[in-house]
Amino acid sequence: MFGFEDMLHSEFTELPFKIMFYVIIFLFGICVGSFLNVVIYRLPAGESVLGIGGSKEDKEKASHCMTCGAKIRPIDLIPVFSWLMLRGKCHSCGQKISPRYPIVEALNGLLYVLTFFVLDINVKSIITCVLMSFLIVIGFIDWDTKDIYVSMVAVILILAIPLHLFYSRENEDVTLKSRIIGAFIISVPFFIIGEVSRPIIRKKFGEDFRAIELGDSMLMFAAGAFLGTQAVIASTFIGILAAALGGLIVKAVTKDSKFAFGPFLAIGIAAGALWGNQIAQWYISLMPHE
Ligand SMILES: [Zn+2]
Repeated sequence: MFGFEDMLHSEFTELPFKIMFYVIIFLFGICVGSFLNVVIYRLPAGESVLGIGGSKEDKEKASHCMTCGAKIRPIDLIPVFSWLMLRGKCHSCGQKISPRYPIVEALNGLLYVLTFFVLDINVKSIITCVLMSFLIVIGFIDWDTKDIYVSMVAVILILAIPLHLFYSRENEDVTLKSRIIGAFIISVPFFIIGEVSRPIIRKKFGEDFRAIELGDSMLMFAAGAFLGTQAVIASTFIGILAAALGGLIVKAVTKDSKFAFGPFLAIGIAAGALWGNQIAQWYISLMPHE
C-alpha cells in the first residue's frame, strides 16, 4: 500500500534504523496511552472525551489535582516519565497518583512495539495497533464497570474491513469465509451459555446476570471477524486460561468470585492477533495423524 512497505524494507533494514523505529513507536504508543487513560476514566463517568460535550466544570477539574486543586503543569503530563519523576505523587500535596495511569501508557507503548516486532512493518501492524488500544480501553472499562461498550466493539468489527481489503499475504490464509465463520464460532456458543445460565443463576442467587455476558459474546464476534477462525479459537483458549488464573488471584485478593471476563478475553484476543495462527497450527500438529 502506497509503497510504504517497500520503502521500509529496501532502504532501512539496518539495526540502528530498527532501534530508532521501535523507540519512536514506543514514544508514540505511550502518548496514545495517555489519551486512552482519559477515555477509560471519563467515558463511564459520562464526561467529555476529546473536549466534546461535558460541562465546563469537568474540563476545569481535569486540569487540577483532585485533592488539593493545584494546577497540573505541562511537565506533569509526559506519559510514564512524569509519573516516575513525581514518584507517583502530586507535586503540591503529595497525594498518590494511581499507578494505573503509567501502566496503561506503558502497556500501550509496549504492545505497539511488540506488534511491529512480531508482525513486521506493514499495514497489518498499523491496524493491529489500533486493535490493541481498543482492547486496552475495553478491558479496563469492563474491569471497572463490568460493562463492555458496543461502540468500542463495533470499531473492532469495522477494523476487520481494511484489514481484509488492504492486507493479503500468500503465507497467511485468513479468507473472507474464515472471518465470517470466525465471527460466529465463539460468539454463538458464548451467547447460548449466557442465555442458559441466566435462569439458573436467577434461581440460585436471585440475581439477574449471565455466566457469560452479552458484551463478551459481541466482543468475540468482532474478534472473530478480525482474526479469522483459527486465531479466534486460539484467543478464546488463552482468554479462558487467563480468566481461570486471574480469577484465582482476584478471589484470593478481594474474596469476590464475581469478576469481568472482558479483560481476560482482551488478553486472549491480543495474543491471538500476534500469534493466533501459529498457536492453532501447533495445536493441530499435536493431533495424531492416521
Ligand atoms: Zn495535589
